[in-house]
Amino acid sequence: MIFLIILAGIVLLTILISPVLRRRFHTHGRILALHSLQPKFLDFGAVSAKTLNHVIDGCRNRGLRIGTIEEAILREDTVAITFDDGYDDILQMLPLLSKHRITITVFVPTAFIGKTNSWDNFFLNNKRRHLSEEQIKQLAAAGVEFGSHSHWHSDLSRLHDDAIEEELRKSKNILESLTGREVKYVAYPYGRGDNRVSAIARRLGYQAGIWSSPRVADVFNVGRTPLNRFDTQLTINAKLHPGILSGAEYLKSLIISRFSHLTPLIAHFSSPSVSR
Ligand SMILES: [Zn+2]
Repeated sequence: MIFLIILAGIVLLTILISPVLRRRFHTHGRILALHSLQPKFLDFGAVSAKTLNHVIDGCRNRGLRIGTIEEAILREDTVAITFDDGYDDILQMLPLLSKHRITITVFVPTAFIGKTNSWDNFFLNNKRRHLSEEQIKQLAAAGVEFGSHSHWHSDLSRLHDDAIEEELRKSKNILESLTGREVKYVAYPYGRGDNRVSAIARRLGYQAGIWSSPRVADVFNVGRTPLNRFDTQLTINAKLHPGILSGAEYLKSLIISRFSHLTPLIAHFSSPSVSR
C-alpha cells in the first residue's frame, strides 16, 4: 500500500514538473547519444541494433527526419544519431545506413584506434575493440561523419590549456587525414567540458562541442539525449516527442550524466591503461 502511494506520488510529481523541465531542456533538435550496439552483461549503455531500428522507424512514423548534427541543431524536425568511443560494433550500422539512407556521427578517441577499450570495462571483463584505421575509412566512405572524442579519452575539464589543445588538435588532425574530411565537432569525454575547453575548441576550428547531458547552453555545449539498455518504445517516444513523460526522461538523463562524472575516477583505480 505504501509502495503504491509513493509510486502515485512520483507519477503525480513527474506530471507536474514535466512542462517546466521540457521548457528548460528541450531547445534545439534532438541529438541521440549511443555508445555500443553490443549489449553485454551489466553494461547498461549499449542498445541493440534492433532497438535502433525501432528508433529510426519511430522517428519516420512521426514525421521526424534523421539528419546530421548540423541539421539537428538548426531544425526542430531533425534527429541526429551519434556514437561515442568508436567501437567496432558500429559496423553493424552499415546495412541500416543504406536501408534508411541516413548518416550518423561517430566520436573517436584517436589514441585507441585499433585497440581494446581500457576505461569502461571495470565491472566485468566487458572488453570491446575500437575501430581500426581501415574500418574508419570504410565507414567514412559509406557517409559516416567522424568527430573528435579527444585523443586519450581524457576528462578535458581537468587538464591544463596546453594539454587540452594537444588533445583536440591531435585527434582532429588524425581523423581528418584518415577520412579526408573536415572534423567539425568534439564530444567531450565523460560529457565534461567547460569554458576553457570550449574556447580552445573554437580556436582550433571546431564548429560545435557536444555534451552527454540534455542541457543546451550554447553551440559549444550542445546537449544530447542518451539512449540506454532500459529504453523501450515508450521511453524512446517520451525522449523524442514532447509529452507528459518527456520531463521525467530529461530529468533521468541529467541524473545519469551526473553519475557519469564518477566514471573517470572508477576507471582510474580499476582499469589497466594503455601505455602512451
Ligand atoms: Zn566516451
